[in-house]
Amino acid sequence: MTQIVLATHNPHKIAEFQQIVLRVRPDFEVIGYDGPEPVEDGVTFAQNALIKARAAAAHTGLTALADDSGICVDVLGGSPGVFSAYWAGHKKDDAANLDLLLDQIGDVTDPHRGAHYTSVIAVVTPEGEERTVEGIWPGRVATEPRGDGGFGYDPVFVPDDDTRSAAELAAEEKNAVSHRARAFEHLQPILAAL
Ligand code: IMP
Repeated sequence: MTQIVLATHNPHKIAEFQQIVLRVRPDFEVIGYDGPEPVEDGVTFAQNALIKARAAAAHTGLTALADDSGICVDVLGGSPGVFSAYWAGHKKDDAANLDLLLDQIGDVTDPHRGAHYTSVIAVVTPEGEERTVEGIWPGRVATEPRGDGGFGYDPVFVPDDDTRSAAELAAEEKNAVSHRARAFEHLQPILAAL
């Protein structure tokens, strides 16, 4: 068994990562990271994912995976982007973040409410090899929150080709098409080659 470390504390993400890694590499044991937290001061998803994966690889001496994600709204020039988790302040407050975003684009009409979620996953080996993969889930921002599944901005994110919000999708439905699922697809050949 080869151990691989995941630089995340989010239990939803750990479960998702475990599933995908073990599907491709049943010989890997996936462990959580409990070392020192690096300062996530990157200004792109890739920079922040690499910061987290490098810290975990350096601390454990194992190959590390980390992801960074957020929502990018067209009319806001791609914001909240890397600031998605803290958009309404320093406290991670999903409800306040979502309310602020809705207020900010309150006067924007439907055709101009395009947005996408982005997920970047970084892989860093103890030898210092670094790779990143990206997944994008296109959609738009609804005018009112709907549904109580998912997390974060899901109640106001309506994926393209759907009328339901991401919070109205069953977890399996979301996990099959989300930005993370799309990044995972690109991750599979990298894991296979490790
Ligand atoms: P992080 O990647 O854990 O730093 O999360 C970034 C932030 O982006 C989260 O706190 C959410 O606000 C938002 N976000 C990322 N992925 C999703 C998602 O699948 N649904 C809803 N919000 C998301």
